[in-house]
Amino acid sequence: DLILAFESSCDETSVAVIENGKRILANVVATQINSQKRFGGVVPEVASRHHIEQITICLADAMQRAQITYDDLSAVAVTYGPGLVGALLVGVTAAKAVAFAHHLPLIPVNHMAGHIYAARFAGEIKFPALALLVSGGHTELVYLPKVNCYQIIGETRDDAAGEAYDKVGRVMGIPYPAGKQIDELAHQGKDTFNFPRAMLNEENFDFSFSGLKSAFINTVHHAEQLHQELDQADLAASFQQSVIEVLIGKTAKALKKYFVKQLILAGGVAANTGLRTAFTQTMQQFPQVDFLQAPLNLCGDNAAMIGAAGYVAWKGGQRADLNLNAVPSLEFDWIK
Ligand code: ATP
Ligand code: MG
Ligand code: FE
Repeated sequence: DLILAFESSCDETSVAVIENGKRILANVVATQINSQKRFGGVVPEVASRHHIEQITICLADAMQRAQITYDDLSAVAVTYGPGLVGALLVGVTAAKAVAFAHHLPLIPVNHMAGHIYAARFAGEIKFPALALLVSGGHTELVYLPKVNCYQIIGETRDDAAGEAYDKVGRVMGIPYPAGKQIDELAHQGKDTFNFPRAMLNEENFDFSFSGLKSAFINTVHHAEQLHQELDQADLAASFQQSVIEVLIGKTAKALKKYFVKQLILAGGVAANTGLRTAFTQTMQQFPQVDFLQAPLNLCGDNAAMIGAAGYVAWKGGQRADLNLNAVPSLEFDWIK
């Protein structure tokens, strides 16, 4: 079965063709990062306009790279939330148009389920599973008792991990999105600042990153007032170490309560090399749990992951009609 998938929830316009939910025939990603950099973040109106300019180009490109025609398709999958409403609507409208014109079923996909299914391209997903989703807008631990079933057992109470990276990056003068550059810098430094590890010892699976962000910003501002030079690499390493310890500490706690066959690491921040290495080491303490990480090149937003999540949703009977609308604050769901 071939699925055509659309993703436009934030600042990447992407169209993919996926075979049987696991093989990528095409995955075209047009990013707006260079445009959004000028504003230090994503401006919704700018994002929508970029999506409109890119979506048909990405579609034609994906169909050509996959070397298929519309007759070869079995279904159309699309991200309908969460994300920016104007951005989401571009993908939703394009998907509806293709589904209508070619009489294909339309599959609504939750963007966060998509992030989890990016890991499907690294190996099979085994249930029950636990997923740590770390991205620009979300940080959550999701329990998956069976296919198409998502239960959030813990989440951030304030900033997402990726958001903290981007805000800290701004203070360091690193362009948006700062995650990758802070990651690289962190490898050249040491944890000398000992920033707080929020909620690490609390009996829940929730996170908080705003205190870490404030501690970081206060440290930088304080040094500026005293005209002191801080070691940028040590700052980055200290920040990253705090994020990693909290993410791993909470996930390990969840693994002791939820007996799962697999741990999945996914979302834009899952591209962090320090986090991947630390998780790989920690998982040696859980030999009975298989560890599956989203491939490095599929951690950020892309339509391939939407095609993979869309495939299992489609097999499970998930359908939308032409009334499908964008849902900016969509939670894990099951329309049917
Ligand atoms: P969401 O998926 O929650 O709706 P989003 O789609 O904007 O948000 P993603 O595209 O999944 O987020 O991830 C982007 C985030 O990942 C940015 O905050 C970026 O800084 C961060 N990021 C990317 N690479 C790295 C890295 N190597 N280390 C840390 N963070 C990273
Ligand atoms: Mg993005
Ligand atoms: Fe995302």
